[in-house]
Amino acid sequence: MIIYKFGGATIRSADAVKNLANIVRSYDQKLVVVVSAMAKTTNAMEEVVYLYFNRKDPSEAVLKVKNFHYSVLNELFPDHSHNVYKRIGGLFDELEKKLQSDPGLNYDFEYDQIICYGELLSTVIVSEYLSDEGIRNTWKDIRKALKTDNTYREAKVDWEVSGELVKKEFVFRDTDILITQGFIAATVNNLTTTLGREGSDYTAAILASLLDADQVVIWKDVPGVLNADPKWFDDTILIEHISYRDAIELAYYGVGVIHPRTIQPLKNKDIKLYVRSFIEPDKPGTLISNQEYQKLIPSFIFRVGQVLLSISSKDFSFIYEENLELILGIFARNKLRINLMQNSAVCFQVCVNNDKTKLPAVVKDLEDHFTVSWTNNLELITIRYYDDTTIARVLINKEKILEQRSKNTIQMVVRDMG
Ligand code: ASP
Ligand code: MG
Repeated sequence: MIIYKFGGATIRSADAVKNLANIVRSYDQKLVVVVSAMAKTTNAMEEVVYLYFNRKDPSEAVLKVKNFHYSVLNELFPDHSHNVYKRIGGLFDELEKKLQSDPGLNYDFEYDQIICYGELLSTVIVSEYLSDEGIRNTWKDIRKALKTDNTYREAKVDWEVSGELVKKEFVFRDTDILITQGFIAATVNNLTTTLGREGSDYTAAILASLLDADQVVIWKDVPGVLNADPKWFDDTILIEHISYRDAIELAYYGVGVIHPRTIQPLKNKDIKLYVRSFIEPDKPGTLISNQEYQKLIPSFIFRVGQVLLSISSKDFSFIYEENLELILGIFARNKLRINLMQNSAVCFQVCVNNDKTKLPAVVKDLEDHFTVSWTNNLELITIRYYDDTTIARVLINKEKILEQRSKNTIQMVVRDMG
């Protein structure tokens, strides 16, 4: 049994759903298909949540989501008496009923109860379309099996309970294909939760681990894991093989293709992960596995819009453990991720994203105890498997402000002079 995961971009239109069907059709053994919401539906649903929670009229925002899905339906199912219209209509009715009730006080809770419709809609469409194409499959509501705690929007998986339920629910009875939702789950009381944005790769990894799958394939709109974002380099290289360890490191430094939490469950059970192109499904893509590879291609990760904060003690005393605990606590409480940190005797420097709400909150808290100064408009460049040539290449027209090196990785905070 293997797991396929299709993200929003791979099902962004009726044509993309047809393409998905072709990919699924060409595999003839047991298959679990994890699907996320179509195109940018989750963003559109976030707008609905925002309006609902703030007691503003969400109907126009809902209409946008509706129009998009019905335009896809019209293309895929010209016969309007098709059962899919009843099912999709039913989901929108449920959603609208929810939106007519009064919102509770917990934003994150309300978010999860509403945002889940993106995945419910997409999986119903995919499942019905596959059936129409003669590809027999069973639609599964993952919330019956994947159980989490009640940390809404960032729910933690209950591995024990989920393990039992997933093995019971995800059995192949009448069909060899099961279709289910990424990203969403539920508490033991059946209230919907989510695993964090972009969480459906993680869902695929969880199911793979619980069901002892042979492999996971994440279908993407890129050829696989590239050594740099094509946005920055026009001569990017496809990395054909990469170890779990390197994949985790790259995800940590900001390679967007792999969701950081996806690797761990797979690594623990030695389940291979492929990242492949849904545009060129015959190409092998990238294989992520336990094997360490000798031929190491340098990878480049660029983060722009960085801010370097310099935090020093007001009385010129040293930055010791107690201060560090205080400083890091402030970042953790405000959920602002530190991209790089460096310590000297009386100054602690951190590089962070220029987050319009979290950063001012952090600075305010820090200023109760420390003197804080900052520099805006910087870039953070990370090179894994660096050498002098690769460093020289990224430093053209840049002024280097800070540097940190380990054996395999260099990180530089730079200012663009070009
Ligand atoms: N649909 C969710 C999101 O856009 C989950 C995912 O795509 O992985 O964040
Ligand atoms: Mg998505």
